[in-house]
Parts: sequence; C-alpha cells; structure tokens
Amino acid sequence: MEITFLGTSAGLPTKERNTQTTVLNLSPFLNEFWLFDAGEAAQHQILHTKIKLGKLRAIFITHMHGDHVFGLPGILTSRSFQGGENKKLTVYGPPGIRSFIETTLKLTASHLNYPLEIIEVSDAGQYEREGIIIKTLLLCHGVPSYGYRLEFPEQEGRLLQEKLLAEGIAPGPVYRAFKSQDTVEYEGQLYDARLYRAENTPGKVITFFGDTMPVESEIQLALDADVIVHESTYLEGDLTLSHQYHHSHISDVIRLAEQCNVKLTLINHVSNRYHMQDIQAAEALIKEQHPDFNFRIAHDFMTVSLNMI
Ligand SMILES: [Zn+2]
Ligand SMILES: [Zn+2]
Repeated sequence: MEITFLGTSAGLPTKERNTQTTVLNLSPFLNEFWLFDAGEAAQHQILHTKIKLGKLRAIFITHMHGDHVFGLPGILTSRSFQGGENKKLTVYGPPGIRSFIETTLKLTASHLNYPLEIIEVSDAGQYEREGIIIKTLLLCHGVPSYGYRLEFPEQEGRLLQEKLLAEGIAPGPVYRAFKSQDTVEYEGQLYDARLYRAENTPGKVITFFGDTMPVESEIQLALDADVIVHESTYLEGDLTLSHQYHHSHISDVIRLAEQCNVKLTLINHVSNRYHMQDIQAAEALIKEQHPDFNFRIAHDFMTVSLNMI
C-alpha cells in the first residue's frame, strides 16, 4: 500500500502546493484507491499521476472547509467520463456533505452515470469496507471535523513449506488444508496444522486526521497506529496562536505521536506562508531536536510506501 499527497497546503493553494488531497492506494490488499479530502483542483493533480478515477471507490471528507471540499464536484462529475461508469462510489463526510453534493449536482445540471452512496458520519461511528474497519471521532476545529481510523484485518501467517517437506508431505491439494484447517489427516496420520503456519500478523492501522487543535479524541484515533496523517499548520512560532485558530502546532503532533506509540507520522496541511525551503529547513531542525520522532513533512506528489512499516 502507499499514500500519495496531492495537496499539502493549508487554507489557500500556493504555486508549489495545492490544497488538501491525499490518496491511499490499497493494492495489493485491494485493487482500489481511496481519497481523503478533495481540495480545489484535486482532479488536475490526479491527472499527473497513475491514479484512475474508475478505481476510486471511496472518498472520505474530514470537514466542510473549502480547502478540503472545493475539488469534490469536479472529481464526481469527471469520474463519469474517466472509467467510473456503473462503478459504485461511496462518499463519507460530516453532516452537510449530502446537501453540498446534491445541491451542486442539481444546480449545475450534472448527471452521474454510476451509483453514488453518501454516508454522513457521526462521532464514535464505525463503518466497514472489504474487511477494513473505519472508526470516526470528532476532533476540535470550530466546525465538525473528523478523524478516520482504518483498522485492517489480521494477515494470515504463511505456510511453513520447509517444515511440511521435512515431514515428507509433498506439495499438493493437502497444502490448502494445512493453510486453512486446525487439524489435517494425511496418509493415516493426524497433524496439528497450526504448527505448520507462521503466526498471524496484526493488520495495519492508518489514521487520517481532519484539521484540529489538540483534543482527547486524537489519542483514541492514533493509539498504536502504524501511520498517522496529521496537520501541522504551524511548523514553528506561537503555540497559543495556532490553538486560537483551532489548528495544530508541530509540538502538538510530536507529543501525540510519542504518546500514542505511532510508528510513522506524515505531516500535511502546512500553512501557505511557508515556502518549500522553509519546510525543508524546519524538517531538518525537527530531526535534529527529536531524533526518535519518525516523520516526514509531505509535499505535493510525494508517495510513501507502507509496505515496510
Ligand atoms: Zn484546512
Ligand atoms: Zn479547516
């Protein structure tokens, strides 16, 4: 799996960075893309990637601020002409998302040629897609803003083929039985099949946060996550000022990641006042001051593979 950032600026776009748009490529777990927020020009950004709108099956909107939703109508309508025909799409979002979509489509006389499902999420909500549990919690941002915690199913341990061969059990249909059953009878002997499989590995946990200032619910969303994608509108400067605007400061993000035992923190939604060289300088300084903090500050078109995490 991998995460691609298509917009990493906060509030307004800059010449270097677009507004909030993040793509999760679920392959090889699932041959689908999921989108988290759709800032203005999200579809233009997608045109520069290998992402096909037909394979986009779910969109998650964190909150209704324009820098997170102004690109949504364009994606929905273009999808009809770019491989999405008859392929269902589900949009998750805060209350108001249904009215926003339906009103925009109606006023612009737009017709979609695929089924569109709209789910307005709630605080402490739980949803399921293809075995992935999606948990939502309300954050603190002045308007309802949600975090989405994705819990992937446990991965079954591989068959210990070398152990089976050592017992004189040759590859064949019986291997399927060893993979799926507790006990297997083979040539008159009963085997405990569980001894011939590696241990199951826990499923990954990936959390996408909407804009927020520090709040208790963040801990539940980030606890023991493999990856969190979190805003840091302020990379330096005044902590209280960032909270006045209901946003996070880099020190809030570092504390959350440490407190919750997060393996990798991907930082986006960095204020539009920072240029790329400011961001690179901030990144170097954070690395120096917090050598144990595993993080990256995202820039547009940055892709991070999650396979090694
Ligand atoms: Zn924002
Ligand atoms: Zn916002």
